[in-house]
Amino acid sequence: MPDLADVSAGTANATMQMTESGRWPTEASAALYERARRSITDGTSRDTLLRKGGHPIYVDHGEGAWVTDVDGNRYLDCNNNFASIIIGHADPTIAAAVQARMARGTAFSFPNDAEVDLAELLCGRVESFELIRFCNSGTEAVMAALKAARAYTGRPKVIKVKGAYHGTYDHAEASQSPNPTNWGDATAPSTVRYAAGTPASVEDEVGIISFNDAEGARAAIRRSGDQLAAVLLDVMPNRVGMPVIEPEFISAIRETTREVGALVVLDEVISFRLGYSGAQTLLGIDPDITTVAKIIGGGFPVGGVAGREGPMSTFARSGGSRAKVPSGGTFTANPVTMAAGLATMNQLDHAAFVRLDDMGEAVRSGLRSAISRAGVDWQVTGRGSLFKVHPHSRHIRNYRDAHLSSDEAAEIERFEHDIQAGGVYLSGGGFGCLSLAMTDDDIAHLLRAADAAWSS
Ligand code: PMP
Repeated sequence: MPDLADVSAGTANATMQMTESGRWPTEASAALYERARRSITDGTSRDTLLRKGGHPIYVDHGEGAWVTDVDGNRYLDCNNNFASIIIGHADPTIAAAVQARMARGTAFSFPNDAEVDLAELLCGRVESFELIRFCNSGTEAVMAALKAARAYTGRPKVIKVKGAYHGTYDHAEASQSPNPTNWGDATAPSTVRYAAGTPASVEDEVGIISFNDAEGARAAIRRSGDQLAAVLLDVMPNRVGMPVIEPEFISAIRETTREVGALVVLDEVISFRLGYSGAQTLLGIDPDITTVAKIIGGGFPVGGVAGREGPMSTFARSGGSRAKVPSGGTFTANPVTMAAGLATMNQLDHAAFVRLDDMGEAVRSGLRSAISRAGVDWQVTGRGSLFKVHPHSRHIRNYRDAHLSSDEAAEIERFEHDIQAGGVYLSGGGFGCLSLAMTDDDIAHLLRAADAAWSS
């Protein structure tokens, strides 16, 4: 076996050892991928793990801020399972809580006390969370929230932002990655069905607005009028480039939805990690329904729909009849996920968010310095523990600004490949996410790897 990566946690100035061919060893990952393709379509159940022109990297284990792949290479994990890991991998406190709970059984056809504890914790933190209902993923949470909005208002339509990802429910995924040939007019974007086979009715049932286009949002909401159930909004959508949301856009959506009697569904599946009481509290948004997932499950599959008593009552049985929106699933709110979520959220006190914000600022400003040192035409966006690098300097207000040309897409892929060779794992599209396990040395390692990637 060739010399393996030698970048240990907290040893930021260690260097990795390449094979004699000048590449990282990847034979074990390649072999697993070969095997996987025989039994799994594309060799993996997650589209987002595929990388152009190569095989995915198979993980062996994670510890704190670092992951080790099956070939023994070590990376600072700046993906953190797409923003779902916030404390770090294999956190001993979460592991102990999970093990203790597992010893008592993992799945029952009975409710459990951990679900009540986690519900109380979340409802205690966010003013708009009067009631909550758990599920198993962010996709499921968004689907349930839209069903609740439709049931509560008795209306069929939703409006969402062009380019925003909200999971894989038919209505939520419309126009999640349009391109110049089909995205339509800047002020009145088209609805583009995403998965082949999606019923054409989705085009009538989903309206699209551009991020930060307050006037366009007002007009679209008024146009849908008494047919509109809800506007679905993420305040810092990754695929829209993580731009700063403009207060005027928020107030246009909130005021005009109230005017026409529609709801705001705030998707905090990722943005909940921006603050102790979520992004809505930081930005002064008052949603009717919020979707959460990722960090609240402590590394286990989870989702949640929370909100005002009115729309949340659609999930409740009234007088013995079935709920307007029946919900639940075999593994919903299982005690292990709930215990992991509690052990995570209990560690996320105010000081933890200050630390995450400080680390995020250090990373974003360090990357900006590296960009000017390298003299490249790039930029960094993001907030709190999230950042995103872009291979251009266009001011990003919306999806059109963030959308990459094919040359730019090739540049970001090259950058991700080079930074990975320097021992840092990002996500596709230049998205990065920090965890509390990261040390200042780890951040220095990230910035050195970025420097090297830009000057290579
Ligand atoms: N909404 C947003 C904003 C997301 O980022 C994601 C997942 N990345 C989802 C919904 C779907 O969550 P899940 O992957 O848990 O289904």
